[in-house]
Amino acid sequence: MKKLRERLQQVRLEIEEAEREFGREPGSVKLLAVSKTRAAGDVLALAQLGVSDFGENYVQEARAKIGQLSGHSPTWHFIGPIQSNKTRQVAEHFGWVHSVDRIKVAQRLNAARPAHLPPLNICIQVNVDAESTKSGIDPDEVEQLAGQVLPLSRLNLRGLMALPAPTEDFAAQRRAFMKLRRLQERLNETGYRFDTLSMGTTNDMRAAIAEGATIIRIGTALFGPRTR
Ligand SMILES: *Cc1c(COP(=O)(O)O)cnc(C)c1O
Repeated sequence: MKKLRERLQQVRLEIEEAEREFGREPGSVKLLAVSKTRAAGDVLALAQLGVSDFGENYVQEARAKIGQLSGHSPTWHFIGPIQSNKTRQVAEHFGWVHSVDRIKVAQRLNAARPAHLPPLNICIQVNVDAESTKSGIDPDEVEQLAGQVLPLSRLNLRGLMALPAPTEDFAAQRRAFMKLRRLQERLNETGYRFDTLSMGTTNDMRAAIAEGATIIRIGTALFGPRTR
């Protein structure tokens, strides 16, 4: 618990410093704690320390934690690849999905979003590296997919997400995030109202904040190295 508290303080400090360094509005970068593979007790401890948003990649694993943290009512974000047969559970138990990269998944989420819940917040995941093995849609195809997702009334299309290939080179990190930011700016010029750029992990959060991230997804810096 003590360690978690110190790590959280450190991450919050780094966010504040990067906001200042790169001329971002104080408080404009939201910390999403990526809790995949982490024990529910640690996740609960972070919630008790004031973290309000958690990211999970696996539905089965997430559901147990969602149950155990229900007293804190955090916002749950689904950030992993989505299988079509899991869309109902995702639509019922999460507030956000960052990893939409095909229309079929968006349609299924839209159909399954329960009427008593607000529309499901959606980011389109973009493959800014053009690495064919990774998830995410090609940048050239984002506008078409956005046009198909926008009319789905149980979804609220909020913006774009990327998970670029890891590199230690700060300039290269910024180039990848700049692509996502520019893509979003172009779409907003054509009439979209995107307010979310979900980008940056433990390794590249400073570059992401420099390029306009509004949500950074941090696992390792909060919980320590993942063992699985
Ligand atoms: C695991 C994961 C993260 C967190 O990565 P860390 O390096 O542990 O901060 C962020 N985004 C996605 C999509 C992930 O799968």
